[in-house]
Amino acid sequence: MPKQILPNKAEFTRLNQNLLRFGFRQIPDQEFVDKYKTLRLVAPRPREGGREVGFVFKANELKVTVWTTWLLREQRARGTDAAWVVISDEEKVFYFSHPIHRTKNFINNLLKQAWIAMARVKYRPRCRKCGQFMQITHGQGAKSCYWSCSNRYGHDNNKKVHLNWDYNLPIKAKQYLKRLRKKRAVYRKQRRALGLQVDVARKKRISWAFQKNKSL
Ligand SMILES: [Zn+2]
Repeated sequence: MPKQILPNKAEFTRLNQNLLRFGFRQIPDQEFVDKYKTLRLVAPRPREGGREVGFVFKANELKVTVWTTWLLREQRARGTDAAWVVISDEEKVFYFSHPIHRTKNFINNLLKQAWIAMARVKYRPRCRKCGQFMQITHGQGAKSCYWSCSNRYGHDNNKKVHLNWDYNLPIKAKQYLKRLRKKRAVYRKQRRALGLQVDVARKKRISWAFQKNKSL
């Protein structure tokens, strides 16, 4: 694991400014209290230091939440933790990013993941057969995700419609993901060669969400 470098106030300000520029807004206190139950679904981790700053982007009946590890009251990064980007609606979580570790490119990595998740929601595809919004669906592995529409009765051939998870993403996002997936594949291969588990944190989080909302 690369060395941990916690972001400082100036770096957090840069994150804040960029997320607002993308169209995110900071989750306000009252909303945090109102949605606490729902938000707990996406933040099952120790609460050292109290509440952390989260950002939300909503479009096309989905929302992206960015958890930053930045503590609101204390104005510092939480000691041990990683940032996450989550796609959900008001009740269910559909997608977790890989955890984003506080290493030297933390802010840029988090901004890229936030921007890509935002693009997935902003350009959420509609089914070519019936016109309904397509749903985020999980395949076999922890990593496999795709868009689907199971409104068979609305389809002339009575079959489900599937689309690639990266469908509609800007070319820049696709290129970045291609490089990132290549890098992760090498990392996983190395860990397997050493007899170590892969994607532990993400699998744990996904199985936790599955237990909490069965219809994920
Ligand atoms: Zn359809």
